[in-house]
Amino acid sequence: MNTAYLSLGSNLGNRFDMLQDAVLMLQEQPELTVTQVSSVYETDPVGYTEQATFLNIVVEIKSDLSAEKILLICLETEQTLGRIREFRWGPRCIDLDILLYNDKNIVSEKLTVPHPRMHERGFVLVPLMELVPEGVHPVTGVSLREYARGLKEGVHVWKTIDGVDAFVRLES
Ligand code: ATP
Ligand code: MG
Ligand code: MG
Repeated sequence: MNTAYLSLGSNLGNRFDMLQDAVLMLQEQPELTVTQVSSVYETDPVGYTEQATFLNIVVEIKSDLSAEKILLICLETEQTLGRIREFRWGPRCIDLDILLYNDKNIVSEKLTVPHPRMHERGFVLVPLMELVPEGVHPVTGVSLREYARGLKEGVHVWKTIDGVDAFVRLES
């Protein structure tokens, strides 16, 4: 059984519905279980800052699937929910990224794990630390807590969440 952490974000359309639909679609995957979900955070855009604020969550999933197969599920989920890529780091109705896959380091043309920018992003680190407070970056050995220092500005709890079932049943 493999444990992976995914970052989900949306800043277009009904942002909460997008996150919820994405988690529902993950749950519908027969070979994968969504085991934890963080609170929902509202976060300022990073990189290209002239765009609307995001809602972000991190989920924990358990499965026997390879990281490559999980990436395909992420991309398929984005497609189904209607993501259109206009430009890099621009607005999106939904983004699903693999942050961690066990303690593995994967570098291929299509996939880099740990996610190469996870340690510089408050919108990833803050929700991830809710699920793994003692987490350590598997390649650098630096704690998530250490990375998160100075990156918490612009990351605010939008809704606290009490488990995966509560999350998928919430009204937007
Ligand atoms: P960023 O990677 O900076 O968060 P992004 O999520 O907006 O940017 P996308 O357009 O969603 O980038 O993804 C582009 C490609 O990145 C995907 O098609 C995928 O092949 C590749 N990729 C590499 N590593 C990962 C990863 N860990 N998780 C998701 N996609 C990845
Ligand atoms: Mg991304
Ligand atoms: Mg992505």
